[in-house]
Formats: sequence, structure tokens, C-alpha cells
Amino acid sequence: MTTDQKTAPKIQMVDLKTQYEKIKTEVDSAIQQVIENTTFINGPEVKSFQADLEKYLGVKHVIPCANGTDALQIAMMALDLKPGDEVITANFTYVATAEVIALLGLTPVLVDVYPDTFDINIEAIEKAITPKTKAIVPVHLFGQCANMEAIMQLALKHKLYVIEDTAQAIGADFTFRNGETKKAGTIGTVGCTSFFPSKNLGCYGDGGAIYTNDDVLAAKLRMIANHGQSVQYVHDSIGVNSRLDSIQAAILRVKLKHLDEYAAARNKAADYYDKAFANHPNLKTPVRVKNSNHVFHQYTLQLKNVDRSALREFLSANGVPAMIYYPIPLHMQKAYTDARYKAGDFPVTEALCASVISLPMHTELTEDTLSYVTSKVLAFINQ
Ligand SMILES: *Cc1c(COP(=O)(O)O)cnc(C)c1O
Repeated sequence: MTTDQKTAPKIQMVDLKTQYEKIKTEVDSAIQQVIENTTFINGPEVKSFQADLEKYLGVKHVIPCANGTDALQIAMMALDLKPGDEVITANFTYVATAEVIALLGLTPVLVDVYPDTFDINIEAIEKAITPKTKAIVPVHLFGQCANMEAIMQLALKHKLYVIEDTAQAIGADFTFRNGETKKAGTIGTVGCTSFFPSKNLGCYGDGGAIYTNDDVLAAKLRMIANHGQSVQYVHDSIGVNSRLDSIQAAILRVKLKHLDEYAAARNKAADYYDKAFANHPNLKTPVRVKNSNHVFHQYTLQLKNVDRSALREFLSANGVPAMIYYPIPLHMQKAYTDARYKAGDFPVTEALCASVISLPMHTELTEDTLSYVTSKVLAFINQ
């Protein structure tokens, strides 16, 4: 098979440059204003962004912080989780979710996910609950909500905290059986998100936020993110230094106004991929659930009887980037090896790690690009 890299359009996993060009005037003046005011830390933009995001999410409190990993750590610190406490989370996730649990001396209890949706398996959570369990950390992986209705019921029954990792699903809606709809991250005890540049609401550096509807918890989260300080130079608990820069807040304020439109663009691209790959014997397209919409942080295919590395090499030779999220289950990572777990314990996660591939997904994908990408995937698989 020949490659036509020279004629291929320049395709990226995420095209932040084209996205920026469309909002350049607004973003540039927002950044310029922070520089003129020199309010680089805790400037008025941070408060304004916080208020805008609270309104968008329909949540009482947004606590901005330095990144999504910090958001998870601060949440666990504020809930007074103690060494030895067990925290249940999905094995199939980005490392940060389990990392902060381990970092705080808590015990990460990994559970498998559903093969259709990549989300945490409810029966597996229930089985993993012990008297030491204190919290569940569902991850709304790739942009679709985990089954929050079932998770909240389990949490209520066993008196557990729920810390939503919504780093990949900002803006997604979860609909309960009674018809009530809530934004991802505003359902559990606390929600944690990331504004890493490639996330659905990305800034131009690092950023993150924590959400809660609980006034007392909000004050504690704010205090911990600010050196455990209650009043200036009065420290009530050990905290961290985790702030969202004013420049990043100013950029995020501009981009938040476009978030729904960005989600629609991502859905349009996903629909195109779905159609192109529908009913293909070697490809399983992402399954969409009824109780959550999808904001497609990633578009992830499962390959059946396809040599994944060869496909990836072929795509790369044809100018199409593709990524493997995630190649190694947590329990097979050196840092997280644990006598409790061995190969074969998480059959779904292990199978997914061996079969998933994510295609370019962002807000600027044109039909031409999508047509090119899908034709190359199909050319390799149908050869
Ligand atoms: C990106 C991400 C994080 C961490 O966010 P950072 O801002 O990079 O620290 C945590 N969990 C998940 C699922 C993520 O995708």
C-alpha cells in the first residue's frame, strides 16, 4: 500500500491553534487586561470565572486550583480520609485518579469497567465495599458519565463519599430516572476537573477546579488549596499551594462561552466516525448510554482481530495521528503493583488496554479531514 503523506492534510489529535484563531481577539484582550492590571495571582478574573462556571454547572461552589490532579488530592484531604481508608476507583483510567489515593496513604481499591462504555462497573463496586471503604471515585471516561444514579444509591446505602473525576467530561449531563438532569461533577460529594490544554475546556497551561454544593466542605476545600489558611497567616490544617493563574482564568472565561458549541462540534465528528465504521466486523464504535449525553473528550474504537500497532504505523505514515488511552492497566504498572492483584483479575480493563485506539477528536475537524481519517482506517482494515 502506498502512502500519500505529502498530499495529506496536517491532522492533529487536538487542533488548539485553529480553535484559538477563531477567538483570538477576545482571548488576546483578556490576557492583555491581566497584564495591564498585573493581578497575576487571585485577580478579579479568577472570581469572575468561578462565578461563570458555577452558573454554567448549576453548582453552589467552584474552587479553582492548579490542575486536575491537585483537585482530586485537595478533595480527598478535605474529606479527612486517613491512611488505611479504602477508596474504590476504576482500573481503566488516567493514572492521576489512583495516584492521589496512593500519595495520601489511602488504599486504592481497583475495580473493572463495562466493556461497552468504559465506565466503572457497579456490581464490581458493590463487591469491593468493605468496612474500611470511605469513598468511590467514578471517572467519567472519554466524556460520558458513569452510572451516577446507581453509584449515589450505593454511596447512600454504605455511607460513602463520592468524588467524581470529571476531568474528561466537563459539560456532560446526567439524567436521573425521575427526569432530573445534573452536570457531571455536581452529583457526588465533590467533583474534580482539569483545564489541561487538550481537555474539553482547556486553558493555555495548567488549571483545575473542584465543585461542591456543600457550604462547609467548600470552605474547607478553599482553605486546603490555600496552605490550610483560614485567616491570613493563620493555618488551621496542613494544606497545599494550588491556584489557578489569573491569565488562565481570563482565557477560560472566554472559552466557557463556547463550551456547548465545542461539545456539539465534537459530537458531529463522533457521528461521522460512527457512521463510517457502523457494523464493521472489526470495529466497535463507542456505545452511547441513555442517561448521559457524551462530550467526546476522546473517540475510542475497540479493534477486533486487527493488528493495532500495524494500524497505528499505517495511519502515522499517512499523516493520521492515533493514540492508545490507556495501554497498561493500573494493576500492571510498576508503581501500583500490589499483592492483592495479578494479571487476569480485571479481564475487561485488560482486554480494553489491548484493543482500544483513539482517533483525532477536537472542535475543528472538517468533513474533509474526517473523510480522510476514516478512509485510511478502513483502507488498512479492509485490505
Ligand atoms: C487529565 C486527567 C486528570 C488530571 O488532570 P491534570 O490537570 O493533568 O492534573 C485526572 N483524571 C483524568 C481522568 C484525566 O483525564
